[in-house]
Amino acid sequence: MSFKISVIVPTYNEEKNVWMLAQCLEDILSPINCFYEIIFVDDGSQDNTLTELEKLRQHNNSIHYISFSRNFGHQYALKAGLDMATGDCVISMDADLQHPPALLIPMIDKWQEGYDVVYTQRLEDAKLPFFKRVTSRAFYKLMNWLSDIEIEEGTADFRLMDKVVVNVFKQLPERDLFIRGLVKWMGFKQYCMPYEPNQRYSGTSKYSFKKMLLFALNGITSFSVKPLRLAMIIGFTLSLVSFSYAVFAFLSYLFTNWNTSGWTSVIMGVLFIGGLQLIMLGIIGEYIGKLFMQAKQRPSYIVKKNTLDESPTILTKK
Ligand code: UDP
Ligand code: MG
Repeated sequence: MSFKISVIVPTYNEEKNVWMLAQCLEDILSPINCFYEIIFVDDGSQDNTLTELEKLRQHNNSIHYISFSRNFGHQYALKAGLDMATGDCVISMDADLQHPPALLIPMIDKWQEGYDVVYTQRLEDAKLPFFKRVTSRAFYKLMNWLSDIEIEEGTADFRLMDKVVVNVFKQLPERDLFIRGLVKWMGFKQYCMPYEPNQRYSGTSKYSFKKMLLFALNGITSFSVKPLRLAMIIGFTLSLVSFSYAVFAFLSYLFTNWNTSGWTSVIMGVLFIGGLQLIMLGIIGEYIGKLFMQAKQRPSYIVKKNTLDESPTILTKK
């Protein structure tokens, strides 16, 4: 029985990577007895990525692209790919060749063995920049502590999903996306495949520190209300401490000649509590903001051009 594989690739300013990746994917997928489509999702690139994608499509009509009206972010590019893919299984991977295309073969094998999701885990690698390693580790630790799902360290958006899982994903009305968490949350039969990441083929990381921070914050707040509970617990603890101190001060005023004095301690206390209250308000605000964004029901992304719409996919059976 022949099947169809969709590979989706979020792409943001990757003009020097797309040809190399497409070439590698063609080399890997052609010998397999299957149909395939490679869908690049151009996330509002400002360089020549789109022109390169147009050329790629002329060279191989199994290559498609979806281009966004602006930069919506990696997670939304992935969502668009999942929304549009037509394969029996969908593989998502980065455009910079850090995710080794050769791993696709064992991933497809596992899928054929009966797994619904084959996700990958990046092995600890000295090739990764120190900053990336440290922040990534801290993020997973914090995420697993604060949220209600367990995500293994180093599992990024390099995975294979069966059509059934993709269809469930497409029905989720969630606006703030943290796809690796959602995939874990959906369940199904999942397999974890470790891999050694390559170095970025060309260019620099498109995940700025700000994007990474927002992504981490979104991951935590999308999967847990623990930060709210934590705020409440801290509030209670502080109230208890200040109440005990008030009793102590009152009793010492009545029964001893020790007088509590000092402007510094008062002002420190006021500032500390004030700061803490602002943090708590911020946490609550973060959740209310999420409700607000979800309530507006804006689309997650805007498509400028989609070659999958243009013509029916011409299947190239190899
Ligand atoms: N990416 C994207 N939109 C963005 C940022 C990144 O589509 O706003 C893509 C990028 O082109 C790449 C993938 O997401 O294919 C992962 O980004 P990158 O390799 O820069 O992240 P890193 O590997 O440094 O975490
Ligand atoms: Mg990368």
